Amino acid sequence: MRSGACPLVVNVYYRVRERGGVRGVQAPSIAIQKLGENECSMVLKGVTPAVANALRRALMSDVPTLAIDEVVVVENSSVLFDEVLAHRLALIPLKVDVETYEALLSCFEEGRRDDCVASFTLEVEADRQMTVYSGHLKFAGFTGEFSSLAYAEVKPVSDIIPIVKLAPGQKVVLEAYAKMGTGKEHAKWQPVSAVAYKYYPKVTVLKRECGEECRKCAEVCPKGVLRWRGGALEVVEEKLEECAMCRACEEACPDVVRVSWDDTSFIFSIEGLGVLPVSKVVEVAMRRLLKRLDRLINTVEASLNALGGGRA
Ligand code: SF4
Repeated sequence: MRSGACPLVVNVYYRVRERGGVRGVQAPSIAIQKLGENECSMVLKGVTPAVANALRRALMSDVPTLAIDEVVVVENSSVLFDEVLAHRLALIPLKVDVETYEALLSCFEEGRRDDCVASFTLEVEADRQMTVYSGHLKFAGFTGEFSSLAYAEVKPVSDIIPIVKLAPGQKVVLEAYAKMGTGKEHAKWQPVSAVAYKYYPKVTVLKRECGEECRKCAEVCPKGVLRWRGGALEVVEEKLEECAMCRACEEACPDVVRVSWDDTSFIFSIEGLGVLPVSKVVEVAMRRLLKRLDRLINTVEASLNALGGGRA
């Protein structure tokens, strides 16, 4: 488990404060609860729901990734039309190492996405009934200035994603070209399969010593957040974040328990697709959010200056 303030979120706070600050805004922070290659849960504190939602949207739709965008079908005698085949290929998540990703990201952000293209070939002829899988795609290198990235390999996150079934004698031969793009344009470029957040729950026991009748308050809780022990009801602090805010406890004991939430703290759950480590996805989402924020602040300041006002 790691915890601590995320430098990027803190950066947002200081940028706002540098420009005059916002009264009542506390420094944002992130505490990482769980971090794996493809999953992350974290608590984001000190922000409004709008900021939390901006981060969710950036994670889903503003982190550029590689996905197949053009397919040249040389031969296709399978049962699938060329277009359907191309669509299935486009939805195969492609994995790239972080160093190569940064180079591709710069290329994309400079508006040269057609110069950072990864090419693949696929050639399969069936001598018996068989399935063509993502593992049959062969990486053929980068085009243009990226052709020098000979050490970098792009490959599907899994080799067993089915593409098409072939009967004996059927054949598929094609070339596929992967480009950078964002989920805003098409879901095939999304780096994560799910991003969800909820308010940080607050469960308050109003009457601790309430005898046997309070046992049911704990019994109805599906997450074990409440515990009845020795005639007293208590909140199990280490389970608090699991509270589903279903209010079953409040219904069972209306005068004893109160459920509410902190609308400046959010528990995020992020599930990656394997195209990038999920920590990298969060970092890039925040970087791009900060860039937008800077653009917005600069535009507003320029407009105010043009009006001859500016900040006092
Ligand atoms: S709101 Fe639901 S999950 Fe939360 S403490 Fe009450 S019963 Fe448990």
